[in-house]
Order: sequence, then C-alpha cells, then structure tokens
Amino acid sequence: MTAAPKPEILAAFEAAKGFMPVDEGLALYAAAAEAARLGLPLLEVGTYCGRSTLLLADAAREAGVTALTVDHHRGSEEQQPGWDYHDPGTVDPELGLMDTLPTFRRTLHRAGLEDHVVALVGRSPVVAALWSTSLALVFIDGGHTDEHATADYEGWAPRVAPGGLLLVHDVFPDPQDEFTGQAPYRVYLRALASGAFTEVSVTGSLRVLRRTGTGI
Ligand code: SAH
Ligand code: MG
Repeated sequence: MTAAPKPEILAAFEAAKGFMPVDEGLALYAAAAEAARLGLPLLEVGTYCGRSTLLLADAAREAGVTALTVDHHRGSEEQQPGWDYHDPGTVDPELGLMDTLPTFRRTLHRAGLEDHVVALVGRSPVVAALWSTSLALVFIDGGHTDEHATADYEGWAPRVAPGGLLLVHDVFPDPQDEFTGQAPYRVYLRALASGAFTEVSVTGSLRVLRRTGTGI
C-alpha cells in the first residue's frame, strides 16, 4: 500500500498557499515516506509558504528523520509584484519586499510540525556549497530560470544517497504546457543522462528519480 499523509496534514496542505496540486502532493508524500526509510534527512529547495513542506515534514516525523527546506523567502521571478504568480499577501509592508517566511512559520506551527523541520534561509547555491551530509531525498522546486534550476541540480543532486530519490517539480516536456519555462525539464533530462538516476514515477509535472549509479 502506498503511504499517505494524515488527513489533517492533507487538509492543511490543501489550505496552504502554494502551487502544488493534490495528486502531486500525494506522490511527493509517498516518495518521501519511502526515501525516509534510509534514515537520512529529506531536503526541499523552494519552501515558499510551506505547502509542500508540510508533506515532507509529516513523512519525516513518521520515520524519525528531519526535513530541511531551503529558500531565501524573497520569491522567484514570476512571484514578484506585477507578475502572474504574485500574491500581495506575501509582501512585507515595512520593506515592500516579498517575505514568505512568516506565512511559512505559521503554516508549520499550526500543523504541529515545527519540531520536524529545519528551515535554511538563504540562496540555494550558497547553502549547497556548505552542505556535505547525505540526503535520502532532494526535491527541487526553486527558481525556474536555467541559472537557478541548474545550480539547484549541481548543488544538491550529488548529495542524494545511493538508493535515495531526486524529485523535480514543474517538468513540462511540451513547451505548450509550460508556464514558467522549461528549465526544470532540462534539469530532469540532465539527471537521466548522467547515468546516476533512473525514473521511478511521473505524476503531473512531478518526476521521481532514484539514485542507482554514480557519475555526478
Ligand atoms: N514548494 C513550494 C513552492 C515553491 S515556489 C510549494 O509547493 O508551495 C519557489 C520558491 O523558490 C520561492 O519561494 C522562491 O523564493 C524560492 N527560490 C527561487 N530561487 C531560489 C534560490 N536561488 N535560492 C533559494 N530559494 C529560491
Ligand atoms: Mg513548483
């Protein structure tokens, strides 16, 4: 049977600000529950307001591991004022800049998951360069430019333990379907071409790959 999040966590996920549909959330949870059996941390790039983090945290709690989530909390390009994915409720009124950290912290606290998550606030490549611990799962859901998506892959994919999982969100093979560019698709192709990862499942724009080789 596929592992599923607790009903109250799924309800919190559905209520949280964010971009992940329920079917992809369920696939994310199932992958996290499986990977967490390795006894290593789970890591997300792209916290935003904590919607997907809730699921990683619930899986981490079940397995007795920690979920890590990286974000500078200033928003991606397409989330800035004037762009399609902007939410005025994410702007810090004092600075006039996006700050999703307060919303994220409320989301996590209300779900009772604070103790199972470590939030890393900073730019993904900067954090990755300081990181050496192996990870059971890396979920790439950060910036959608080639610069950001490539840096996320290069910084974090090498940390996926043998048998661990690499997940990439917003993979759109057909340019007609994409809404913020195809950089995540190119990263997914690169992971497959590296020989280090094998595809496990596809759910919407979510790709789950397993580390079955070396070479990155
Ligand atoms: N996983 C979230 C959505 C993430 S949106 C959910 O399911 O709801 C993408 C996030 O990536 C934004 O919050 C943005 O601030 C962050 N981001 C973009 N580029 C980044 C970078 N280089 N370093 C850290 N965070 C980044
Ligand atoms: Mg996404």
